[in-house]
Amino acid sequence: MQGTDLNKVVNPYLLLTPGPLSTTHRVKRQMLRDWCTWDKDYNQIVQQIRNQLVNLATSQPGYTATLMQGSGTFSVESTIGSVIPVDGKLVVLVNGEYGRRIDQIANKLGISTVVIDSGELADADPQALDKVLREDPQISHVAMVHCETTTGMLNPLKAIGEVTQKHNKVYIVDAMSSFGGTAIDMAELHIDFLVSSANKCIQGVPGFGFVLANYTSMTAIKGLSRSVSLDLYDQWRCMEDNQGKWRFTSPTHVVRAFAEALKELDGEGGIAARQHRYSENQTTLVTGMLRLGFKPLLDAKLQSSIITSFHNPQHPNYNFNTFYEVLKEKGFVIYPGKVSQADCFRIGTIGDVWPSDIDKFIEAVETSMYWNTD
Ligand SMILES: *Cc1c(COP(=O)(O)O)cnc(C)c1O
Repeated sequence: MQGTDLNKVVNPYLLLTPGPLSTTHRVKRQMLRDWCTWDKDYNQIVQQIRNQLVNLATSQPGYTATLMQGSGTFSVESTIGSVIPVDGKLVVLVNGEYGRRIDQIANKLGISTVVIDSGELADADPQALDKVLREDPQISHVAMVHCETTTGMLNPLKAIGEVTQKHNKVYIVDAMSSFGGTAIDMAELHIDFLVSSANKCIQGVPGFGFVLANYTSMTAIKGLSRSVSLDLYDQWRCMEDNQGKWRFTSPTHVVRAFAEALKELDGEGGIAARQHRYSENQTTLVTGMLRLGFKPLLDAKLQSSIITSFHNPQHPNYNFNTFYEVLKEKGFVIYPGKVSQADCFRIGTIGDVWPSDIDKFIEAVETSMYWNTD
């Protein structure tokens, strides 16, 4: 973590998790006062955020951002239920929990789905998608998670985008845990709808998500939503027509903190600089953990710099919960595993976390290996 001692007083530990994650004092400070939401000042901040998000998402003109209350899943559900008509059909490329969640949301909405499951240890397969799209002309939409936070896997955004574009389908990407920490140009990658949230790589606090799309795509979804509060078109229309006004109560403090987080991202040098830091964090982490005998779950070439899964040690005295508590006591919170095929834990390398923090973390791990006493 950077900077102030005050942040250390407020934060007894550093979050090495995939979000909510450690944020700076500067971001948190924005939430110390009450802000009104009904005047121009506030709406201007919202408009500025929307513009900045568009600029981070593509260099092409014609794109627009919609902010949506709730955690990231609310924005995914809003997108699926506002973009895909009842008679549409969705292919979901699955290799973890968040891909499965997209399928679950679609099923709940009565949308037919085809799941292409590559298993948790393999990335999404463009050829398998090509085959499905060739054989089933009913399919209208394709959805994929960019960084599958379940394992830390980075899916091939470009290759899947090319196949989707070739078959003229709508491409929906859950870039929740990668946007802001990985360079993405949604126009170049043929992404029609990109979903992310405030509390991941932009390093804000939880409370809202956002959806990026071009104006033509947004105009085309009018009237399709099966929900009032999650109606993406109505939310967008309201923000467009009233220059930044939210339809219902907005998370004012979170929005102010997010505006500051965007300034901070810019000050760091933008997405390229942040991507570089996260990558350095991750390399430092893996080098240190390998030295201590821990084994990463994924092949290095599939691994993102966002979060890394490690196999739990197979020592009879090892217990994850004890390991977790010992590390927390030393100032670091790690993340349990979510992989169904393997016994793992995860370590996030995003947020206000720097390579020097990872060095300290490795030292903490080294002195926490209580099971290796013999
Ligand atoms: C964090 C995350 C989400 C959203 O999770 P919430 O708990 O609803 O914020 C969705 N997809 C991915 C890939 C994520 O990492």
